[in-house]
Amino acid sequence: MIKKTVSCFLLLLPSLLWANIYTTVNSTPGGIAQITFESRQINPEAFYGSVPLYIQSLGENQYQVLIGLPLMTKPGSKRITLHSTNDRYVFIEVENLSYPDEYFETTVKVGNTQDSSSLRIENEKVLFTKTRKTFSTQPLSKGYFVSPTNGRLTSVFGVNRYYNGEKGLPHIGLDIANTLGTPVNASASGRVILVHDFYYLGKTVFIDHGQGLLSSYSHLSEVNVIEGQTLRKAQELGKIGTTGRSTGPHLHWSVFMNQVAINPELLLKKPL
Ligand SMILES: [Zn+2]
Repeated sequence: MIKKTVSCFLLLLPSLLWANIYTTVNSTPGGIAQITFESRQINPEAFYGSVPLYIQSLGENQYQVLIGLPLMTKPGSKRITLHSTNDRYVFIEVENLSYPDEYFETTVKVGNTQDSSSLRIENEKVLFTKTRKTFSTQPLSKGYFVSPTNGRLTSVFGVNRYYNGEKGLPHIGLDIANTLGTPVNASASGRVILVHDFYYLGKTVFIDHGQGLLSSYSHLSEVNVIEGQTLRKAQELGKIGTTGRSTGPHLHWSVFMNQVAINPELLLKKPL
C-alpha cells in the first residue's frame, strides 16, 4: 500500500518540476505552431532554418517545440529540423490570415529624417537585431504571460499601416494606452537584457524569458530596472510614456519567439 502511494507521488512529481510556458497555438503568420515528438536524448534541439526553437518537456521522452511564425511568411508547408540522436525533418502547415489595414495622415514624410538621426537609426537597427537574436538555453519563465499594463487597446498586432496612402511597416506589437505614469510590469519572469532610448521606440526594456522567448516594452516615460536584473512576473519595470515616435501616452508591447515578432495575445490566458 505504501509502495503504491510512493509511486503515485513520483508520477506527479515531474509535472511540478517542469517549468513550461502556455500558449495558444495558431498556425498563421504572426502566430505559433507546435510540434510534439519523442526523443530518448535528454536535451533534444529543434531549428527553423538555422534558428534554434523553444522546446519543453511534456513527460518522459516527450517534447514540445513552439515555432514563432513570421508575419511575412507565406501560407504552405515549412520544414522544421528536430535534432536528437540524428536529424529528422517535420513539416508544419501555415494557414492564411489577413490582418486589417490602418490609415494615417501625417505631415511628416515617412523616412525623411535628418542625417544625424539616420546614423542613430542605423545603429539602433543593429542593436535591435542583435537583441532579438538572444538565445539562452534555460527557460526563465512558466505558465501564461500577464498583460503588462491596464488601459485601452488602441492598436492590435499585425495591422498593415499606411501613411498618407503609402504602405509602411506592419505593426509588430500591441498598443495599450493609458495616462502618463501608469505602471508597466514584466509580462513574465526573466532577465533584463537591454535598456535603451530608441529614436522610434523611445525608452525601451527588453526581457529574456529563455530559449529565444523575449518581450519588449516601449515609449516608456521612465525605466526603473537595469540590464542584468532578474524580474518576477508582474514586477514593475517602468511607466507608460510617449517617448520616441509616439502620438500619445501608450505602451507598445512586443513578444519575440525564435527571433520572430508574434502576437503577444497568444501568450495570455485570455486575449485582451
Ligand atoms: Zn505600437
